[in-house]
Amino acid sequence: MTATLFPARPTPVIPVQGAAGFPVGRIFCVGRNYADHAAEMGHEVDREAPFYFTKSAHAVLLSGQDMPYPPRTADLHHEMELVVAIGATAVNIAEEDAMNVVFGYGSGLDMTRRDLQAASKAKRRPWDTGKDFDNAAIIAPLTPKVDNADIGHLTIKLEVNAQVRQEAKLSDMVWSIAEVIADLSTLYTLDPGDLIMTGTPAGVGPVVKGDVLRGTIGDFAPLETTII
Ligand code: MN
Repeated sequence: MTATLFPARPTPVIPVQGAAGFPVGRIFCVGRNYADHAAEMGHEVDREAPFYFTKSAHAVLLSGQDMPYPPRTADLHHEMELVVAIGATAVNIAEEDAMNVVFGYGSGLDMTRRDLQAASKAKRRPWDTGKDFDNAAIIAPLTPKVDNADIGHLTIKLEVNAQVRQEAKLSDMVWSIAEVIADLSTLYTLDPGDLIMTGTPAGVGPVVKGDVLRGTIGDFAPLETTII
């Protein structure tokens, strides 16, 4: 093995209910995947094709840990999302086969420096500083998938200080889980360890220091964090 100048940064590992941990590869995020959220951001739903941005695996913060309020923003927003964990390699996978590469599901928060994202959009620049920053991908323990049954009936919900901010059905997603995986697999080789944050429903908004966030999706493990 080649010597390294310093120890490699450890790969974040997401706990899995009843199994060994899930080491994170890449994190793909779907933009505008709920019609009511697209509308609140001033956009129409586009069924032409989904679009994506990414977060570094090193942006992961495990549920249960506090999130330090990040620098260079005055408008930190929550985006509650279903996380799909990939458990097998997929390249150009057909939509009807796509669910076979799903390892499991989890609750996630795509934390967003909305002011930096808005400034980037206004100048037609990349969103990275608004989306991909330390602790910006908060992930709850994963629940292994038991079969390929549709989970669209599950409610996705986020409470801030016990007040409901976001609530929807997963079936409200513009692009289904299978459609997203099939499309992503035409752009990238999906591998075990990759995570997909599948977009947020309406109700996104700011959080401040002291806020307690609790996200749930059906009976998957809840996501909890406090902004400090
Ligand atoms: Mn999002």
